Amino acid sequence: MDTDVIVVGAGLAGLVAAAEAADRGKRVTLVDQEGEQSLGGQAWWSFGGLFLIDSLEQRRLGVKDSLELARQDWFGSAQFDRAEDRWPRAWAEAYLDFAAGEKRSWLRQMGHRFFPVVGWAERGDGRAGGHGNSVPRFHITWGTGPGVVEPFERRVRAHAEAGRITLRFRYRVDELLTRDGAVAGVAGSVLAPDVAPRGRATNREITGDFEVLGSAVIVTSGGIGGNHDLVRKAWPARLGTPPAHMVSGVPAYVDGRMLGITREAGASVVNADRMWHYVEGIRNWDPVWEGHGIRILPGPSSLWLDATGTRLPAPYFPGFDTLGTLRHLRTTGYDYSWFVLTQKIIEKEFALSGSEQNPDLTGRDVRLLAKRLGSDAPGPVEAFKQHGDDFVVADTLEDLVAGMNARGEVALDPAAIRTTIEQRDRAIANDFGKDAQVTAIRGARKFLGDRLIRVAAPHRILDPDAGPLIAVKLHILARKTLGGLETDLSGRCLDASGAVIEGLYAAGEAAGFGGGGMMGYNALEGTFLGGCLFSGRAAGRQAG
Ligand SMILES: Cc1cc2nc3c(=O)[nH]c(=O)nc-3n(C[C@H](O)[C@H](O)[C@H](O)COP(=O)(O)OP(=O)(O)OC[C@H]3O[C@@H](n4cnc5c(N)ncnc54)[C@H](O)[C@@H]3O)c2cc1C
Repeated sequence: MDTDVIVVGAGLAGLVAAAEAADRGKRVTLVDQEGEQSLGGQAWWSFGGLFLIDSLEQRRLGVKDSLELARQDWFGSAQFDRAEDRWPRAWAEAYLDFAAGEKRSWLRQMGHRFFPVVGWAERGDGRAGGHGNSVPRFHITWGTGPGVVEPFERRVRAHAEAGRITLRFRYRVDELLTRDGAVAGVAGSVLAPDVAPRGRATNREITGDFEVLGSAVIVTSGGIGGNHDLVRKAWPARLGTPPAHMVSGVPAYVDGRMLGITREAGASVVNADRMWHYVEGIRNWDPVWEGHGIRILPGPSSLWLDATGTRLPAPYFPGFDTLGTLRHLRTTGYDYSWFVLTQKIIEKEFALSGSEQNPDLTGRDVRLLAKRLGSDAPGPVEAFKQHGDDFVVADTLEDLVAGMNARGEVALDPAAIRTTIEQRDRAIANDFGKDAQVTAIRGARKFLGDRLIRVAAPHRILDPDAGPLIAVKLHILARKTLGGLETDLSGRCLDASGAVIEGLYAAGEAAGFGGGGMMGYNALEGTFLGGCLFSGRAAGRQAG
């Protein structure tokens, strides 16, 4: 036996699992197909948003949250309806307890800190018992994604120095080894060194092979979002036809290959048709990886038009119901849609997901952060406005529509777009009215966090004082896998009959963040990183 525990994948789930197993005195070997520069996986690139329930940060902002309300929201979103939802349900219950309980203090004791303004992601489908967060729960890490990775990288490196963890980069697992029905190790290819910067695709040149034997293997290899062919293959009919064109929200190493390898060893993969892709993707004008898309985390005020110029129906407003909106847009016959907004809206309401798009929060730079309260759009948003091919900026509506027509597949009629905007703008004249989006904007501003930094004061889109006008072409952005390897509450993989496969564990996105899909059909956001923490911890505490 070379080691006690082998962890496949050095993303967040793998780092957590390795650190926890080594804390118990286990000898751990952590392998990753990428180089050391990519340690932390997707989490490093992430915005660092974490789902918490009834936290100090929420209470300080006057938010009344509870486990009961969060549970209603979670199950209203997950909409579990299958026999294979047995373990996902159990994981959902356990995760809710974690998010309402020790999650915050556990992180805090490792030096993790939150930005004080809690965000309101996935505001929902308009039904109290349906999908979405009834209250703001998206807690942004001070330091964004790298700030989430930091404590676990520190712990792993300390164990590595003490000889308890062996790190093996450019080790790609191609096979799980079994002995007497139990998983007993991994075998694979050693890939040639590659100095490509973090996030860029690396070579797949094989220079040798390897085998590591251990008493347990934890698969933390992530989802399938970087492989659009796999995404299209798994695309469910309920979301319409798969898009021909998508932008990529994850690096190429999120390739889904290890899920197939683990299935070949007898593990059950469930809910593979559940996935989480965004509808507010823009092409990165300064891409890190191929087809690199950035998700706009939108405030609620932009007018959302489909490719033909028709306004989206309620409740498909920016930031409300990701998959409901995706489903609706798939009926239009086009892979893109439009936001139409004003300079006033972009200044306050456009945040871009990703650590590199938020230098103030990532760099913990208070002076830079203070600019968010000012009247300019944050630097990275302004850069997109100036350089991004998907942005049109114009002083008149006619010029705006001409710019949209130069970028779209459908020739839009400026007079029809004007009518749509004017109808919406008339709803601004009173503090009450029947436009559901304007009503939602007013409701959002009752939350202090939104009023301060997230939701612009309601104004007419055609008000010249709010200009210039802006249109943004939005693409579908492939990101997360909600289904995955079926696991019990200890993170042990199960076979198709539901029996435990000895020696095999899974965590993070590879395990649908626990159980093979603890979020069911819809996520509440901030639940992915949190799912890696919780499931990585469970597997690391049990394996070996
Ligand atoms: C830009 C961005 C923003 C995000 N923002 C948020 C957010 O604010 N909140 C939130 O909750 N979530 C967010 N997410 C999602 C979250 O970051 C991911 O779901 C999570 O980090 C996945 O972690 P993981 O450890 O499961 O997998 P990954 O990070 O994908 O790591 C898997 C690792 O396994 C390795 N690997 C794969 N196959 C093999 C193999 N065969 N052999 C060896 N190694 C292998 C890969 O190279 C990789 O390093 C964001 C993601 C991105 C990209």
